[in-house]
Amino acid sequence: MNCKEAIRLMSEEMDRDLDGGNRFALRLHKLICVGCRNYQKQLSFIRQACQQQVAVDDAPPTTPDLNPPQRL
Ligand SMILES: [Zn+2]
Repeated sequence: MNCKEAIRLMSEEMDRDLDGGNRFALRLHKLICVGCRNYQKQLSFIRQACQQQVAVDDAPPTTPDLNPPQRL
């Protein structure tokens, strides 16, 4: 497995479980390849950040203050 293949599998793994052979090959590649280990760290960090952003977007918007102080 080369890095290109490993990267493809890593992003695939984010969306669905890999089959046994691919999962094993990917794990093996990450053992020997620092670059891909770092890439995976970044990938999961970015994904986590995206999920947090989605959670924020799902939260109800804060209601604006409808009672402004009256200044006549
Ligand atoms: Zn690699």
